[in-house]
Amino acid sequence: MAIREIVTIPEDVLRRKAHKVTNFDKDLVTLIDDMLETMRQAPGVGLAAPQVAISQRVIVVEYAEEKEDRPKSFAVINPEIIKTSAETELGVEGCLSIPNMVGEVERFTSVVIKGFNKMGKPVKIKTTGWLARIFQHEVDHLDGILFTDRATRIWQPPQEEMAELPE
Ligand code: ZN
Repeated sequence: MAIREIVTIPEDVLRRKAHKVTNFDKDLVTLIDDMLETMRQAPGVGLAAPQVAISQRVIVVEYAEEKEDRPKSFAVINPEIIKTSAETELGVEGCLSIPNMVGEVERFTSVVIKGFNKMGKPVKIKTTGWLARIFQHEVDHLDGILFTDRATRIWQPPQEEMAELPE
């Protein structure tokens, strides 16, 4: 496993629509392992392949609902949001590719994501709250969409506040 460099705006790859993964091979497994390690080291709660300059539809997410819980990890290939709740909620997001910025973004409260695991097996994940928010943020990255495109308000938080925020 290796830590990869996280690219930041205005890097072009962050604005491109990422390619669908067609080969579930060893390179894909390496990419996922590297993305998980890179996300943990950052630290962040999610990472999309374009953030490590790979224009492929791959995301990783790791998040614990409660601080004392063991975090749940996900790696989803070719993820698609197939169902969204009627309810939405506002929340504050940051992004490893947009340093020192946070914004208030409206997201669906719950979403269902389908895609494939690294073995190429179909997976379906039901998410709600913060986890749903993280997935929506990461899937957006695959279409070249950044949280700043959706934010109703963007600001620079004081440094000590940054440590508390996801991604
Ligand atoms: Zn991001």
